[in-house]
Amino acid sequence: MEKLKQIYEGKAKKLYETADPDLLIQEFKDDATAFDATKRGTIVNKGVINNMLSEKIFVLLTKKGVPTHFVKRLNDRDMLVKRVEIVPIEVTIRNIVAGGMAKLLGLEEGIVLKEPVLEYHYKEDKLHDPLINDYHIRALNIATEKELDTIKKYSFMVNEALKFFFDSKGLILVDFKLEFGRCKKKIILADEVSPDTCRLWDKTTKEKLDKDRFRRDLGNVEEAYQEVLRRVME
Ligand code: UDP
Repeated sequence: MEKLKQIYEGKAKKLYETADPDLLIQEFKDDATAFDATKRGTIVNKGVINNMLSEKIFVLLTKKGVPTHFVKRLNDRDMLVKRVEIVPIEVTIRNIVAGGMAKLLGLEEGIVLKEPVLEYHYKEDKLHDPLINDYHIRALNIATEKELDTIKKYSFMVNEALKFFFDSKGLILVDFKLEFGRCKKKIILADEVSPDTCRLWDKTTKEKLDKDRFRRDLGNVEEAYQEVLRRVME
């Protein structure tokens, strides 16, 4: 499969059409942004690492019964994916308080939640991806009730599968963000699952091994991504 026309360039990825109208090539870049893209930088080899990690995780999730847009990895930075119409919400699941939730509610990072918290953010950069709930989503026709039920069900299935998987690699899945799309009227998981979109802490030292190292200038950013890849591929 070859890349034809570029149809989209986001902060961390590009999308290209292919000869097959139902398939796109998703290219992972090394570019990193944070805080509504006010902070920009490069994480060397991040694209290669996130492509491999996303492949591994999409394959695992498919086995667990979560349909995804992943078709196959083509090379270092490119994966073949199904064309979807993205549902403009970001679904966040949190197992431990961090980031936005700590700030919103004035909580310490690291509090273990009694049960996972699911949040929706409306995907609209110029509004800074505001927090919304299922009533907003239904009332504004962002997704139907049936679609939302599926999205919720898949998101919790992803949480269970990935909590267990990362735990076996000595990593705590603190929180993560998912995006879903419509493909032939069905909801499937799209985008990526990587240290850009998950918070991962070392189980024993609680060291952060994710994009917070970039966001918060903690150093050893490349090393953290490499370490996650090394553990996941073991
Ligand atoms: N996240 C993401 N993209 C976004 C916002 C958040 O992938 O645009 C991920 C983030 O890496 C974390 C989780 O979603 O794993 C929860 O992020 P949070 O809402 O705490 O926001 P942040 O602190 O990243 O601004």
